[in-house]
Amino acid sequence: MQQHLLINGTLVEGKGSADDVINPENGELIIKINAADESQVDTAVQAAEAAFCQWSLTTPSERSQLLYTLADEIERRAETLARIESLDTGKPLNLVIDEEIPAIVDCFRFYASASRLPSGSAAGEYFENMTSMIRRDPVGVVAQIAPWNYPLMMAAWKIAPAIAAGNCVIFKPSENTPLSILELVPVFNEIFPAGVLNIVAGQGASVGASLAKHPRVRMISVTGSVETGKEVLRLAAGNLKRTHFELGGKAPVIIFDDADIDNAVETIRSYGYYNAGQDCVAACRVYAAEKIYEEFSAKLATAAQTIKYGNAQDGVSEIPPLISAKHRERVDGFVKRALDTGHIELLCGGKVADGPGFFYQPTVLKGALQNDEIVQKEVFGPVVSVTKFDNTVEQAVSFANDCEYGLASSVWTRDVTKAHKVTARLQYGATWVNTHFMLPNEMPHGGMKQTGYGKDLSVYGLEDYTVVRHVLIAH
Ligand code: NAD
Repeated sequence: MQQHLLINGTLVEGKGSADDVINPENGELIIKINAADESQVDTAVQAAEAAFCQWSLTTPSERSQLLYTLADEIERRAETLARIESLDTGKPLNLVIDEEIPAIVDCFRFYASASRLPSGSAAGEYFENMTSMIRRDPVGVVAQIAPWNYPLMMAAWKIAPAIAAGNCVIFKPSENTPLSILELVPVFNEIFPAGVLNIVAGQGASVGASLAKHPRVRMISVTGSVETGKEVLRLAAGNLKRTHFELGGKAPVIIFDDADIDNAVETIRSYGYYNAGQDCVAACRVYAAEKIYEEFSAKLATAAQTIKYGNAQDGVSEIPPLISAKHRERVDGFVKRALDTGHIELLCGGKVADGPGFFYQPTVLKGALQNDEIVQKEVFGPVVSVTKFDNTVEQAVSFANDCEYGLASSVWTRDVTKAHKVTARLQYGATWVNTHFMLPNEMPHGGMKQTGYGKDLSVYGLEDYTVVRHVLIAH
């Protein structure tokens, strides 16, 4: 297993503290990874700054070819990378191979293409004898900080657009899940000139904070919790870095009484519990119209109990364990406090699963009220709450929008007018109608409110890693 960091085109041992990397499927230590120390972070930033002079002058075509090469190399190593990802996160191996790796490869290919597709305003004469034009140029040195829920996919979402746009990057994976990105370090080093892409491992409070406050870093992108986003924003203020945040979600799922209930149940079974609910767009906050509320809740509970888990290698498991014992305790705390309210009913799950590893039973909580913690706060576990609503557009919109997160949402109805009325008013970066969780690389992903700002994926993701400039030529 590759343990070296990548700094200025050299594979190096981290000189900082050693972080335990734990297999969440059995709680055992996989390996210790030495973090970067402060001087190594600084060297990585300097290397990125030095590399930027040449890298920013490369043509989109040159950058595109390198990103295509990287996509091919990842595809060639799919099996190895998937095994490492599965070990590090407990994800079912077949799902990583069939669903995550192809999406990761496609993300690099998408940006390899998108970087060559110019768009924007025409040049023109706005003063006599002077021609103005708009340029979109790279920002410069970009630091990127990723979470543990989709380690390699979050890396792809960040690295691909930043590099495609001509920036030089220092990327930090989560301390919980650094292994898949470290495995790619020799590949990155083979493909990119020294300093263009640097990989530093380590804790958020040390390595992440060093990047966030570094005076030579010009932009920082974080996918993580709201608290982390706020702390990074404070640190980034020192040199007024550009910031780009994807900070969690609490997706409302509005089910009107004319919806296809069985389809809604099947979809929430898949995407309320996908990755054990450790997903910022998880379909976790259901509003069911009063007429179908009982039927829907009962059917969802029956379906959730059929979700298979327990062995990442068996080819039938559908969800992983939670990432750590601490996170499982946190999830269990949410469920216990929900049940302590007295008005919330446990339809299934609600317990730590038997056996080794950090598994938690898929859980359905019925009767949650709008102001309950379980409705308002992100659990990030296999827990779906069901709340009754009066089937009006008004109440659906007001319940759904009454939340500090603003990432994803879905509406379930056969009435296209009603669907339009609701989608137009939802304060969420994405709304799906009669489905949930669909994230094509071509479409933007990002939030509103405390989910933060900045888009991943799509041409908007590429634009976020550029600066709009005006150049005027006097004739
Ligand atoms: P986290 O905020 O604890 O950590 C995320 C990353 O930030 C890690 O790499 C961590 O080391 C780093 N970090 C932590 N403190 C830091 C600091 N003070 N300075 C700089 N970096 C710091 O989040 P997590 O537990 O890894 O992931 C779960 C969270 O991520 C959830 O809230 C989830 O919703 C969110 N998430 C959001 C999206 C999205 O697209 N919006 C996607 C995945 C996960």
